[in-house]
Amino acid sequence: MIKKFISRVFGRGAKQAAHPSKPAVYGPDKHHIHKDHISRGARKTCEELQRAGHTAYVVGGAVRDLLLGRQPKDFDVATSAHPDEVRSLFRRSRIIGRRFQIVHVMWGAETVEVSTYRAHFTTKDPEAEEDADGADRQDEHGRVLSDNVFGTQAEDAVRRDFTVNALFYDPVKEEVWDFQHGVKDLIAKKLVMIGDPATRYREDPVRMLRAARLSAKLGLAIESKTAAPIASLKHLLENVPQARLFEEILKMLLSGNAVACVQRLRELELHHGLLPLLDDALEDPATGPFAMAALKATDDRLREDKPVSPAFLLAALLWGRVERRWHELEEKGQPSTPSLHSAMHDALDAQRGSLAIPRRFDATMKELWLLQPRFLQRGGTRPFRLLEHPRFRAAYDFFELRAQAGNASVEIAQWWERFQEAGGDERERMLHADEGPKKKKRRRRGGKRRPDDGGSPEEVAPGADE
Ligand code: ATP
Ligand code: MG
Repeated sequence: MIKKFISRVFGRGAKQAAHPSKPAVYGPDKHHIHKDHISRGARKTCEELQRAGHTAYVVGGAVRDLLLGRQPKDFDVATSAHPDEVRSLFRRSRIIGRRFQIVHVMWGAETVEVSTYRAHFTTKDPEAEEDADGADRQDEHGRVLSDNVFGTQAEDAVRRDFTVNALFYDPVKEEVWDFQHGVKDLIAKKLVMIGDPATRYREDPVRMLRAARLSAKLGLAIESKTAAPIASLKHLLENVPQARLFEEILKMLLSGNAVACVQRLRELELHHGLLPLLDDALEDPATGPFAMAALKATDDRLREDKPVSPAFLLAALLWGRVERRWHELEEKGQPSTPSLHSAMHDALDAQRGSLAIPRRFDATMKELWLLQPRFLQRGGTRPFRLLEHPRFRAAYDFFELRAQAGNASVEIAQWWERFQEAGGDERERMLHADEGPKKKKRRRRGGKRRPDDGGSPEEVAPGADE
């Protein structure tokens, strides 16, 4: 429907210019974006910049999303004004960044990111391989390390990644400016890299992940020439700083289209080796369905505007590894709780060797994992203590999702659902009187474990609630 609408409107639109420096300009009658669709802050920023004699447009993802009839996440502005000129026009603004400066303009709670048109870095000019301050601009693989040359609006379009991301919207004249056939590609539902795709991936390997994410989010097919070099260049992702890689992966997982993103990653074979977190999570037959269920549950929650926790999702993706290692150690005769502790550390360490999950997520992930065996204990006072645990709700959701995906007992998950809602008397009746305390006594008395109780998750000591 959207396709029809856009092609109907744009079909009679401005002629696409033959030269990339001459844009196709679509007037207000040729598209359905209205200035009211633009956030107040972005609109006022453009108006003010234009009043001061500069050109200024809403740019990138927001224009693309509006043409597709979607609500943009944020509105970025691109302008001919230099950062200090932008800064001097807006009282509530500040310059961000050292090498490539952008300006944050604040309007109430909204912050608008304003960048000056930038030229695309090209390796053709050997003089250009160093910045004015002498710093290297590319690494040995062609990855661009800095990118801070001001340019024209047409150059700013060319340095963007995909044609559909290189559209500008003027909220004063209500015109769409298209230098790179972005509108045509949007109508054809194609994601097309600007320029030579291999070179563009070398400059910034993260563009491979962006191709997967944006095609999944927008329902666009990755054009064949754009997809082709990925197979031979995916190893370049190894050179990308871990923090940037993690940020991009998190964007995918929390995009509301995580399932579709992962599917695209698999089609492009980008989840292999380089992203062991996903590789391992999805291909493990025992826990793969659980990892997928967690991705789906996250998508669903985002669709319903419910909050999601990245730590929960990461814990779910790593659970396969943790569980496998836990049982391996138990089978070697190690008691259950210490085995689980070692397994958690091993899983996190192995993960750090590839894609580092920031340590701020560790505590929550560990807590969710450590609480899992405690759902198996339904005797004595232990269920009451678990219920009072501050992380009970998240841990229960985790257990319940495992049960749904065949990774934990459905009967136990249902028991806990009832137990939470039951009154005092019913709770007492529900308790499994024979569990836990007896084993506790046995351990206290003998010290030595019987060979057959080493592997039972019911064995997790009450002390596991630290
Ligand atoms: P989202 O909907 O996720 O915000 P987006 O396309 O807006 O998608 P941003 O990361 O917000 O993504 O980037 C804003 C714009 O900056 C993009 O539309 C694109 O024009 C440009 N851009 C972002 N990342 C790159 C990149 N790695 N290489 C070239 N251009 C990029
Ligand atoms: Mg954006």
